[in-house]
Amino acid sequence: MDNKFNMLFNRQKANQFKVGISTYKERIKKLELLRKALESTYKQKIREAMYADFKKPFLETDLTEIYPVLTEIKFAKSNLKYWVKDQKVDTPLALLGASSYIKYEPKGVCLIISPWNFPINLTFGPLVSAIAAGNTVVIKPSEMTPNASGVMADIVKELFNEDEVALVEGEVEVSEALLKLPFNHIFFTGSPQVGKIVMKAASEHLTSVTLELGGKSPTIIDDSANLETAVKRIIYGKFTNAGQTCIAPDYVLLKSELKDEFTKLFKSKIAEFYSEDAEQSDSYSRIVNPKHFERLVSYIEEAKQNKSDIAFGGTYNASDNYIEPTLVFDMPKDSKLMTDEIFGPILPVKTYSSIQETVDYINSNEKPLALYIYSKSKKNIAYIMDNTRAGSGCVNHNLLQFLNHNLPFGGSNNSGIGKAHGFYGFEAFSNRRAMMKQHTIGATDLLMPPYTNFKQKLIDLTLKWF
Ligand code: NAD
Repeated sequence: MDNKFNMLFNRQKANQFKVGISTYKERIKKLELLRKALESTYKQKIREAMYADFKKPFLETDLTEIYPVLTEIKFAKSNLKYWVKDQKVDTPLALLGASSYIKYEPKGVCLIISPWNFPINLTFGPLVSAIAAGNTVVIKPSEMTPNASGVMADIVKELFNEDEVALVEGEVEVSEALLKLPFNHIFFTGSPQVGKIVMKAASEHLTSVTLELGGKSPTIIDDSANLETAVKRIIYGKFTNAGQTCIAPDYVLLKSELKDEFTKLFKSKIAEFYSEDAEQSDSYSRIVNPKHFERLVSYIEEAKQNKSDIAFGGTYNASDNYIEPTLVFDMPKDSKLMTDEIFGPILPVKTYSSIQETVDYINSNEKPLALYIYSKSKKNIAYIMDNTRAGSGCVNHNLLQFLNHNLPFGGSNNSGIGKAHGFYGFEAFSNRRAMMKQHTIGATDLLMPPYTNFKQKLIDLTLKWF
């Protein structure tokens, strides 16, 4: 395996400058091919693959797998002309006679490792940025969604030569073998645990990394919020993709007196979205595989053992990896539901009395990937924003921040390093080469040895005035 990947890497390395000097128009042509494949030739195959992988509804595939990549392409098409331009910057007076600019050059040969939860979106999204920035790319998609990986392999094979973009399918060993190679950049999306392995491997070659990781994203509801809208949007954010979303609300911090009303609204909205029996609903996905199903079942069982208040749901069906949308109140802080990233359709709610408690609770955990606030109180919103840290967020909604390509998307520390989307994705796959041009005799020419008293006076002046 090592030898095969070495050869692939070397072919891309040899081709990187040819790809790197491509004009923005040539890069857009490549993105156009990808757009056409997603929008027409492969759309139905992608839908069917996602349904086969975890019964993802077609509409949800269109909206959360295909649409974000199409908008990423559209955004790059409209802006790439400006992104690739050398960016002039000021030059200090002390360096008179010179001009300065930043040249966005491709990083070179890049590796994209992607997760299973939005396999098309989180593989082709970064690919758009990598192509826009003029790189060659090796892709390793997740082994957990083999149908999606298969369609992506077909698309990549049809559109690109292997020395430009190649997709390698396989188990974790494939990732491990690829990580031994001296890539110029690694764009990894996955868990913080594997993110650490990737960063360690990257350090061997001082390869730069973008790490799009996960964690527990809190959602605060205070007593000024429109509770019905909040519950509706939280249910949408939590149970789309059956909760297997990195920026889904992981848990809710709820003002304690809202508990009964929250529960009532939760029950009625779940019935409205997924009928009285979510297992029969065409709008509800399954858990990706038995391993993740068992993990989630263990959370429900733990809640039952703890005699926690399971206010809704709690049933499951192993034959189909089905887990009912589940609502649990006030689990102990050290329970798995409150410590692990849930990544499934179980919503724990912790009640609070004062807004300070929410901030203290959030800050006692790792920095989240997203933090959501449902409130009409400017004071509370400002207080929470000023006293917490997070990769992204939304006030009075969730997930939407992912869809605006003017915003950098990513985490902070445990939830990620570096940013994706739009210009920020282009930037992640580019090196900002710092360039100066000397046009005339420069001021520094006057300061070279031999060091005389006159030159000392010039230096004194420079230190004082420039
Ligand atoms: P994961 O970390 O288990 O796997 C991600 C990728 O890494 C897969 O392609 C897998 O093959 C590979 N991998 C797994 N173990 C490896 C190892 N030991 N060495 C090298 N490579 C290895 O993540 P996952 O289960 O696919 O996805 C879920 C996680 O991803 C969650 O934590 C979620 O929050 C996070 N996520 C983050 C974002 C984001 O944009 N920040 C988006 C989606 C998912």
